[in-house]
Amino acid sequence: RGPLPRPPQTRVMVVANQKGGVGKTTTTVNMAAALAQGGLRVLVVDLDPQGNASTALSIDHHRGTLSTYDAIVDGTDLAEIVQPSPEIEHLFVVPATIDLAGAEIELVSMVARESRLRKALHAHPQILADTEDRFDYVLIDCPPSLGLLTLNALVAGDEMLIPIQAEYYALEGLGQLLETVEMVKAHLNPGLDVSTIVLTMYDARTRLSAGVAEEVRGHFGDQVLRTAIPRSVRISEAPSYGQTVMTYDPSSPGALSYLEAAREMAFRVEPEAAAAASTIANQ
Ligand code: ADP
Ligand code: MG
Repeated sequence: RGPLPRPPQTRVMVVANQKGGVGKTTTTVNMAAALAQGGLRVLVVDLDPQGNASTALSIDHHRGTLSTYDAIVDGTDLAEIVQPSPEIEHLFVVPATIDLAGAEIELVSMVARESRLRKALHAHPQILADTEDRFDYVLIDCPPSLGLLTLNALVAGDEMLIPIQAEYYALEGLGQLLETVEMVKAHLNPGLDVSTIVLTMYDARTRLSAGVAEEVRGHFGDQVLRTAIPRSVRISEAPSYGQTVMTYDPSSPGALSYLEAAREMAFRVEPEAAAAASTIANQ
């Protein structure tokens, strides 16, 4: 398969969908693992107070651990907070602790409350930098709501990675998410791009899954990755071993599909970004 291409600059991807249980966390950790296994440097930012991404990646996130909360609320340097994955090389994590549950309310009265994560990311010397050791990908795992935490992710990100569960009601609530994105683009982050949609928990045996996939592809066209993630017990078992499916069962269909999806994502760099980068490189 070979290594994956480094993007022209750090791609900050926001994994969001305000519905719970659609595969945000699963997609974040497995895409991150697959990108890292492809030789890229990846940072996962856990922005959900539940800390499921931290758990799945075996990252310490007991109360009191430096976490996303400290970065957003107290302005602590991300460099002090980042932990390396114990399992996967090139993969790093900013954990979430339960303190983050309070941040949603604490943020309300804070200065620049929507852009605190952006500020933290931009201050990190390996993010959006031009150094050899810069992160190639930052994946932000959002909580299942459209509150201030998710808003911080939308303001901090370049692109969105939206998991859609191949289930009845799949598109319900998506309108609200896309309206929020439009609002953010108009006022806070004009460059935000809904670049990538991935179908999750796809069941090839059911007409329902096929029907949902067709509807999503009809609606979003090329934004939808060709690879759909199948429903797989191995994928859902992996977190209870503190692993991604990429290490838990690398040859399972679930692992192979995330590998393929990550590959597709890595080879689909925004044309403008690629063009801009080559223009700069040629100067
Ligand atoms: P979210 O972060 O959007 O709330 P999760 O990633 O936590 O969603 O997934 C919700 C549940 O579905 C979890 O128990 C997870 O293990 C399970 N799950 C996610 N993707 C798959 C899949 N492809 N096959 C089987 N179970 C899955
Ligand atoms: Mg989650």
